[in-house]
Amino acid sequence: MKRIPIAGPWITEREIEYVTDAVRNAWYENHSVYQQRFETAFARYVSRRYAISLPSCTSALHLSLLAAGVGPGDEVIVPDLTWIASAAPISYVGAKPVFADVDPVSWCLSAEALEAALTSRSKAVIPVDLYGSMPDMDAVLDLAHRRGLVVIEDAAESLGSEYRGRRAGSFGQSSTFSFHGSKTLTTGEGGMLVTDHEDVYQRCLFLRDHGRPPGDRYFFNTEVAWKYKMTSLQAALGLAQLERIDELIARKRQIFAWYREQLEGVPGLTLNAEGPDWKNSYWMVTVIVDASLGIDKRQLMDAMSQKGVDTRPFFHPLSSLPAYGQLASAADWPRRNPHAYSISPRGLNLPSGYNLDRAAVEQVCERLVDVLRGR
Ligand SMILES: *Cc1c(COP(=O)(O)O)cnc(C)c1O
Repeated sequence: MKRIPIAGPWITEREIEYVTDAVRNAWYENHSVYQQRFETAFARYVSRRYAISLPSCTSALHLSLLAAGVGPGDEVIVPDLTWIASAAPISYVGAKPVFADVDPVSWCLSAEALEAALTSRSKAVIPVDLYGSMPDMDAVLDLAHRRGLVVIEDAAESLGSEYRGRRAGSFGQSSTFSFHGSKTLTTGEGGMLVTDHEDVYQRCLFLRDHGRPPGDRYFFNTEVAWKYKMTSLQAALGLAQLERIDELIARKRQIFAWYREQLEGVPGLTLNAEGPDWKNSYWMVTVIVDASLGIDKRQLMDAMSQKGVDTRPFFHPLSSLPAYGQLASAADWPRRNPHAYSISPRGLNLPSGYNLDRAAVEQVCERLVDVLRGR
């Protein structure tokens, strides 16, 4: 029996052709052609003026915080339920992460929780578009605007999602994407920062190249900075993927529809939501198991693994991780963020890779139902 993996890309002849061309020709005067083509096409797709290709989404968040002037003494609010990469760059710049609760339907930062997390030190907020879902952006942006917070959208998981007709990645001062091998569009490893602000764009170009102004030919560094660049081979892969983006999103939505069809009638399961205000690109199909079924995500993962199906646990509340154990009043978090602490222990990501067909999805669902029935 072949194992069913959790995630993986969809590579066609187009990707192979572009990468082959890059390794042959993207040198000398052509050394940055693929990065420029990828950035231009990407900015257009998410309706932003500027895009910068980077080695990761983590580096895009780091640059976003630096460009926003976030530093020691500042607090940055981030949802408690997300991958640690949303929050780690807050520590890189010497600021303090503050974990806020999520909305129980969208699983994303709620505006009420954002309001409750505000202090006189709050400088920025990083709403995260979790698993392809979208927060109530109007409410978050409105509150952030009134309180003078910089908004940085972590759209790593939501390429192709929409909120009130606007694409994920078009909200706030800058937005960030990941092209890790598990993501909706991949370059193997990679990321993108997008913004409409000329000054943010210029500052990030400077900071990502060891403090050299763009176009500097004299190698005369004016600040100690960072080195965050994407190779042309990765950009060629990304460009080919982006030219197929409609097909990729349609496939993600098809995979989710197969799951929904299979699991709709099973009592005690909740799948990723889609609201009247937002379209979900369903990066990862996720089930929340009702508490009445009395089974947690670790038991589910182990039982599914024994049946040949790879799954992932719903993100743990960041405030519960040993990595953040030194934060004061740790015992308080479950009371402060009740939705995060209720959802996370019961959530499981199911296989969502592009290699799935309807039969494979049916197999996963049958095995999940068997596990839930104690078989
Ligand atoms: C994948 C992911 C990241 C990090 O992306 P990298 O490219 O691995 O740095 C950040 N935030 C979220 C929400 C992610 O899912």
